[in-house]
Amino acid sequence: MKIGIYPGSFDPITKGHIDIIERAARVVDKLVIGVLDNSEKKPLFSAEERVELIKESLKHVPNVEVEAFHGLTVDFAKNHNAKILVRGLRAVTDFEYELQIAQINHKIAGELDTIFFTTSVEYSYLSSSVVKEIAKYGRDISDFVPGIVAEALSKKLEK
Ligand code: ADP
Repeated sequence: MKIGIYPGSFDPITKGHIDIIERAARVVDKLVIGVLDNSEKKPLFSAEERVELIKESLKHVPNVEVEAFHGLTVDFAKNHNAKILVRGLRAVTDFEYELQIAQINHKIAGELDTIFFTTSVEYSYLSSSVVKEIAKYGRDISDFVPGIVAEALSKKLEK
């Protein structure tokens, strides 16, 4: 069984992430989405909330599991017996950072290889932080995130 992991902050999940997940789930037998629980990043949504939003947004993809994790991605991969690490690439600016991470991960866990999916053009400008910024000023974000995430964002920002 070919198992892949897709780690990230997903604060919150966007249609850009979902596009990568749908495509990666066609390549592996099981894709485990790892929600990085890193308090230093001061996320808007708790890890539990992010996991729930991802689960709700991906009901149509059967071979996906979602779990929060902390610590090293390579250990998360090992715990799931995953040999494939999925990441998304938007622009050249992502590339340098992602290349370094992929190389260091391969160095410390030789059995783990990173596979990159290039973003679909309609999502190339999309990031969780951009979505949060637009939502903060009350603009419509339904083009960028699933309905359930848009609702959760406006509730969160009301507080
Ligand atoms: P991280 O904090 O680990 O970068 P993110 O949630 O921001 O976590 O992103 C997780 C992964 O998804 C990264 O590989 C990132 O490049 C990718 N990604 C984010 N937004 C998009 C998008 N719009 N299109 C394609 N890939 C994306």
